Amino acid sequence: MDRVIMWFRNDLRVKDNKALSQACLNGNIVFPVYVLDRRLLETTALGFSRCGSFRIEFLLDSLAELRGNLKKLGADLILRVGNPEEVVPWLADELRVEAIHCSKEIAHEELQQVHRMEQKLQGKGIEVKDHWQSTLFHEDDVPWPVKQVPDVFTKFRKESEKTVEIQSEFQAPNKIHFQHEVEPGELPTLKDLGIEPEKRSKKAVLPFKGGESEAWKRLNEYFWKDDLLKRYKYTRNELIGKDYSSKFSPWLALGCISAKSIYFEIKKYEKERTKNSSTYWLFFELLWRDFFKFMTKKHGKSIFLKPGITGDALEMSDDCDAFNAWRLGKTGEPFIDANMVELNETGFMSNRGRQNVASYLIHDLSVNWTWGAMWFENRLIDYDPSSNWLNWAYIAGVGNDPQKGRKFSIENQSLKYDPKGEYVKMWLQNNLVKPR
Ligand SMILES: Cc1cc2nc3c(=O)[nH]c(=O)nc-3n(C[C@H](O)[C@H](O)[C@H](O)COP(=O)(O)OP(=O)(O)OC[C@H]3O[C@@H](n4cnc5c(N)ncnc54)[C@H](O)[C@@H]3O)c2cc1C
Repeated sequence: MDRVIMWFRNDLRVKDNKALSQACLNGNIVFPVYVLDRRLLETTALGFSRCGSFRIEFLLDSLAELRGNLKKLGADLILRVGNPEEVVPWLADELRVEAIHCSKEIAHEELQQVHRMEQKLQGKGIEVKDHWQSTLFHEDDVPWPVKQVPDVFTKFRKESEKTVEIQSEFQAPNKIHFQHEVEPGELPTLKDLGIEPEKRSKKAVLPFKGGESEAWKRLNEYFWKDDLLKRYKYTRNELIGKDYSSKFSPWLALGCISAKSIYFEIKKYEKERTKNSSTYWLFFELLWRDFFKFMTKKHGKSIFLKPGITGDALEMSDDCDAFNAWRLGKTGEPFIDANMVELNETGFMSNRGRQNVASYLIHDLSVNWTWGAMWFENRLIDYDPSSNWLNWAYIAGVGNDPQKGRKFSIENQSLKYDPKGEYVKMWLQNNLVKPR
């Protein structure tokens, strides 16, 4: 009788989860497992933790819902806090499984986890079977071997769009055959993890609750109830409120919903409502996400390093005072400070804001771009290694930008995107800095 572990990683869902479907297909008994990686709680060399409370809270909500969904299917979620590469092989021994199914992750640390896990399992006859599933395009379907994937987005998009068909979704299993053989483990609270809870500002674009049904609730609201997809292309650069963009990113980052599921909903919307440049544009933005994942696979660890993927030496200082002023929203530049206050008080910032604050840190303050990326890693509830580090590298000029970096004029940007100073006023109303 085949006994298998389904090791959940950034795929906290039951619908369109290839790893879960394969585990259920191959295992007569399936043990769903999640290990909250203790390293998320570590303090960085810059003095703040890798993962702030908003992000952990979103993760805990997502795990609570996943557990509930697995229970409805007759199983449970075996939950531990520790290092996955130690805990999962230990559980595999304890539960006498033949295989561990999981999502294929491509960032350096996630690859290391599987590598170390395989070393621990050597000679035990337990196989790790990882399944590619976080992108729209499957790695086997793109027209290049990984080392030849184009480094320029437009080339990647044009060629793959022409040739790649997006694979269909996997339905959620009807039932999971499970046995209670080990303690499922309590879902920890922030306090258990030694994290001081922060209160999200009421001005946040959304209350942002993690979980699969919350992801679908947001999709249904944005596409179907409020019918906002049809004008997405013209609103996506705005700064205020829940309507200007999809806000799918936090749920995508943890895999509460798959990019493929969003794609098929876009297709449905195009059939049932309208098909226009906006419906295409959401797909286009999801392709950026795909592109950065393929770039992570191609360039490995270099995406996290100061010379980036180009290897160029940048003149950047390790100026702690300038960095901390930026980080805390106290540069004196209202448009920058307002965005940083929003990020710090809510865990979210618009794409337009992210581009500007990154450009300001890099090109106006000349501070080490990797520090900015580390602060984003702590703050963003949608933190995703590929999208975060490669967007930063792009703006710094050591990533995928053929123009070798983007410097934004903060004055022009704030006049264009916040002409009446409403956004700045909203976030800096208690500050002494005057809006432009
Ligand atoms: C410096 C910097 C850091 C960033 N860090 C992250 C990060 O850690 N996690 C993250 O998900 N996004 C990151 N982004 C990309 C982008 O800002 C967010 O995906 C977007 O703002 C999320 O809001 P939304 O879901 O409403 O986006 P929408 O405009 O509704 O877009 C839909 C989806 O497309 C994808 N997408 C859109 N723009 C980009 C982009 N530039 N790069 C990659 N994917 C994109 C996202 O998955 C997004 O959810 C970063 C951008 C910059 C400039």
